[in-house]
Amino acid sequence: MNVVKRAMQLVLVLLVGLVAACGGEQVGVGQANSLPAVAVAPTPESPAAVVQPVQVPAPAVLEQGSEPAPVESQAVARRLVMLDPGHQRHGNNAPEAVGPDTRETKPKVSSGTVGVRTKKPEYVLNLEVSQLIKAELMKRGIEVAMTRESHEVDISNKQRADMANEASAALAVRIHADGDSSPKTSGFSVLYPSASVASLKPIAADSRQAAGFIAEQLKAVTGTPGRGLSARSDLSGFNWSKVPVVLVELGFMTNPEEDERLSEAEYQQKLAVGIADGLEQFLSAR
Ligand SMILES: [Zn+2]
Repeated sequence: MNVVKRAMQLVLVLLVGLVAACGGEQVGVGQANSLPAVAVAPTPESPAAVVQPVQVPAPAVLEQGSEPAPVESQAVARRLVMLDPGHQRHGNNAPEAVGPDTRETKPKVSSGTVGVRTKKPEYVLNLEVSQLIKAELMKRGIEVAMTRESHEVDISNKQRADMANEASAALAVRIHADGDSSPKTSGFSVLYPSASVASLKPIAADSRQAAGFIAEQLKAVTGTPGRGLSARSDLSGFNWSKVPVVLVELGFMTNPEEDERLSEAEYQQKLAVGIADGLEQFLSAR
């Protein structure tokens, strides 16, 4: 008799523990999706591990590294980074409000600049480097989502911001390359939303911190000072954002030497590692 009673009590305790665990998984898509990475050995101390069928459906947009994240980076692994490879094959000139606080409009999305020597369109370079950043982040157990993985899309800059907002991204990172009328202008830069825009006040400080980390790491991996940080109030992709956001200008495609360098596999990998290092630093500081 007593044994049966004991057993039932144990089952009850297990069930209560299970319910508590389920409740905890409902907060934020980023957390929900990182479940599969946490491989828990079935020990007496972790009854939840025995009951494996508890699964939270993951949104299709989210992706997760196939390798389990190292234990020390679990906190980082629970944060989602939204990567936005700038532009697309065909621009869309339909007007779109530059932000919630203004009637000013800009084209929904342009097709970007072109490599003066490589003739490569910017949207191609942006996706190439974004894929390397994605791989680098996944290797580190950091969750990544991307606004696009194809050139054949039609996503406005506001819609790209909305995607990061809806995913509750810890940070949105827009990847672009620069153009200038002078072929001599060169160097990377990191843009962040200006605190002078009322709607951007809540995200300005965090965004600036992320921009600073990324710029420092890019300096380290490229061995060049770059052009530093720039606060912007005129970018639709910033003004509609409710999550911290930065825009990395990888370099100038209108500078012949830099244009070529930007397409070298080794240099692209350096840029990806530098950006991932800065992101990791930002996420660890949360
Ligand atoms: Zn661009």
